Parts: sequence; structure tokens; C-alpha cells
Amino acid sequence: MRINRALRFGIGAIALALATATVTGCGGGDDKSALEHAEDGQLTIGIKFDQPGLGLRNKDGSYSGFDIEVAEYIAGKLGVEPENITWKEAPSGQRETLIENGQVDYIVATYSITDKRKERVDFAGPYYVAGQSLLVRADNTDINGPDDLKGKKVCSVKGSTPAQNIEKNFPDTQLQTNDTYSLCLEGLRAGSWDAMTTDDIILAGYASQSPGAFKVVGEPFTTENYGIGVKKGDQELRDKVNDALEEMIADGSWNKAFESTVGLSGYQSPQPPTVDRY
Ligand code: GLU
Repeated sequence: MRINRALRFGIGAIALALATATVTGCGGGDDKSALEHAEDGQLTIGIKFDQPGLGLRNKDGSYSGFDIEVAEYIAGKLGVEPENITWKEAPSGQRETLIENGQVDYIVATYSITDKRKERVDFAGPYYVAGQSLLVRADNTDINGPDDLKGKKVCSVKGSTPAQNIEKNFPDTQLQTNDTYSLCLEGLRAGSWDAMTTDDIILAGYASQSPGAFKVVGEPFTTENYGIGVKKGDQELRDKVNDALEEMIADGSWNKAFESTVGLSGYQSPQPPTVDRY
């Protein structure tokens, strides 16, 4: 009898826990808007976990990179302290869905502003302008630009603009897509493919992390305007994020953030872009 009651209680507790988990989701996924979360003093922000210099989850569980600095500056302007930010991994192919489902309040993850993505999400920014490039092993001599990719095995990431560009404009390439760039990098190191492709600034981060192993080749061959992804139609949030970005550039924080992250590996600090209020 007593066991039965305990058992019933146990099942009830589990059911309740499951119901609560479904309602609250796993990162702010309730019915509240991003600005309401900020008013409550908390934000869930999507970033990359495996891109050194940009968005990186360190071995000690801390996070670092230019995207983290940008995300924290914006959060600060919305009244949220860094310690009240929940960081959520936002792989390239999942970003629109994470925003649409309210699993993140906004995304700062080397996320290019494109018309296709604008059908599902809105963007503040740009806060950085990158360009697609190629990473090869240091001893490679036959790949020096995208025109050398014919018949070559090239790795990129599902749902990314560089993968779409190769598919569309360099169809003779043997494109292999993974979920993350770190998987591409390990395959490149092991000789499974001849090159990997994504934005120059991301590739430079990988090259500087493994001195002597890789090199970035050729000139950038696309323009990637990095935006902050927000829920489609949340104009108030978009305006506030754009205000924050303009302040970050004007008060010198943007330069400082770049120098203390990507700039540490010798990457030249560019001119910050102008925010576009489309
Ligand atoms: N900026 C490109 C994109 O948004 C490539 C980098 C990435 O996959 O995050 O798809």
C-alpha cells in the first residue's frame, strides 16, 4: 500500500517534471518575447561553441570570442548581466529554427544576413563583414582558389552560405557537409578531404590554433554580412540591438572586443561596418 502510494507519487512527480520541461523548453522557450526575458533579467543567446576567436566554449566551461563580446554588449544595453546569460549552441543549419521556436532570444553566430533567411527571421547589423575562403593542409600546393576545386573533396557545414555557394556555383566539387566546422577540420587534418570552406575569419581561427598544420588560401570570394538574428517581426528588439551595435562601434568597445579576441592571433582589425536599418 505504502509502496503503491510512493510509486504513484513518483510517477506523478516525473509526469509533472516532464510537463514543466515541455512548457519552459530548454532555454527560455516560453511565450515571452526576448525583451520580456530581458526585463526579467535573463537572456538565452545562440552562439557557436567550436569557432576559436569568434564563438568558443572553453575546456573550463567558459565562453570566449568576438561573437560573445558582441552578444554581451547587447545584453548589457538590454539590462542583462553576463552571468544571467544562458549560452546555447546554434549550429549553422539550426539557427532559423532556434529563433522561430523561441529557444533563443537572439543569435550571434557568424550568421550571414541573406534574403532567404530573412523569409524566416530578421537581422540587426551587420556588425562584421567576412568573405568565403578556403583552408587546406599546409603542404598543399594545388588549391589556391575556388577555381581549383574541380574534382576535389571539400567539406563545409549544412545550412551554411559557403556550402550553398559551392553547390550552386562550383558544381564539379565533391562537397561533403557536416554539422559543424570542427568536424570538417578534423577530417581535413586526417586527409579525408582536400579543403574546407567557410568565412575567412573562421578559417583563420582554426589555422592559428594549429600552427604549421593549415593555411588559408586565395582571396575571399563572397561577401558575408554578419547579423544578429532575431524573431521575425520583432521590430522593437531589432531597433534596440541596432542601437546597441551603433553604440558599441561609437564608444570603441567594438574595436576593443575585436582586438581581445580575433585580433590576438594577429588578424588585422578592420573598419567596423555601418548598421543597416532595412
Ligand atoms: N557566415 C556563413 C553563414 O552564415 C558561414 C558561417 C557559419 O556557417 O556560421 O552560413
